[in-house]
Amino acid sequence: MLYAFASRTLWPLFFIGGLIGAHFAFQSSAPLFWFNVTYLTVIAGIALAERLMPFEKTWLARDGETFNDVAHTMLSKGAVQILAAISASLPMGVATLVQPLTSGIFHVWPDQLPMFAQVVLGLVTAELGLYLAHRFAHENLYMWRFHALHHSVGRLWVVNTGRFHFIDSGFKIALSQIPLYLLGAPLPVFLWIGAVTAFIGLLTHCNIDVRTGFLDYIFSTPRLHRWHHSLDLAEGNTNYGENLVVWDQLLGTYFNPPREPTTKIGITGRVADNFIGQLVQPFSYKGSRKILGKKPQSVIEAEARKAEAKRQAEMSRQTN
Ligand SMILES: [Zn+2]
Ligand SMILES: [Zn+2]
Repeated sequence: MLYAFASRTLWPLFFIGGLIGAHFAFQSSAPLFWFNVTYLTVIAGIALAERLMPFEKTWLARDGETFNDVAHTMLSKGAVQILAAISASLPMGVATLVQPLTSGIFHVWPDQLPMFAQVVLGLVTAELGLYLAHRFAHENLYMWRFHALHHSVGRLWVVNTGRFHFIDSGFKIALSQIPLYLLGAPLPVFLWIGAVTAFIGLLTHCNIDVRTGFLDYIFSTPRLHRWHHSLDLAEGNTNYGENLVVWDQLLGTYFNPPREPTTKIGITGRVADNFIGQLVQPFSYKGSRKILGKKPQSVIEAEARKAEAKRQAEMSRQTN
């Protein structure tokens, strides 16, 4: 009974707990420090619950990727912060230059609404950028070579939440944040979107046997995200939402069949074993062919030569 209760309450508990922590952090004199304390506490809580009530027991086993997962998380966070700083100054610069011509365009944000409504509006707006970037990364082979790193794991757990190639996370953040800057959203909206994204992100990857019920129709839950990691593309190219699933539902990519999510996850291609290899692999021709699961050019050529020789031999047999 306790198990059933926990599996229904843990997701909202971690999410709301994280947001309450963020609320106090934002009001303190050291917001970044206290936010990180909250973040690490939620990670510890999720990691403990993963041990006590795993969704998939085999996902508890080590896969040798923990160091890489953490390293990509740190690098992506750094790259994202730099990009956010650039994208913050870019629209501001544009605004100062063209303000006399376009006055009004950059101030359409409804500042007068209560903060809660502004954050919801900000989340839905940012989500469209996140959705489009994520969907593009799955449907376009050029971007897939960067996003494949995130999908190359054989198990889902709290630690590989932030396993993103920095090009992938930069692209996503650019598409989701620049529109908000252009619309004139204030800083607290960005902080709250950051907090919501942080906690929902940790939870989407968690290996806890949670039952999320009606929440599956609003948020990107572990259940929906497990389908998104499926090896089967028909199941995997769905549920692109990062925080909310509103765009998946509107644009026809929402997938939530009435059965247990698959545990057959991963990609058909191959990603390098070590951190540096994983960073540089998508930039090389050979490396990206490996990621895409395509044969090396030399093998294709050798096969073509063999087929041609066979054809020639057959033709000469026929003429003789
Ligand atoms: Zn994906
Ligand atoms: Zn994921």
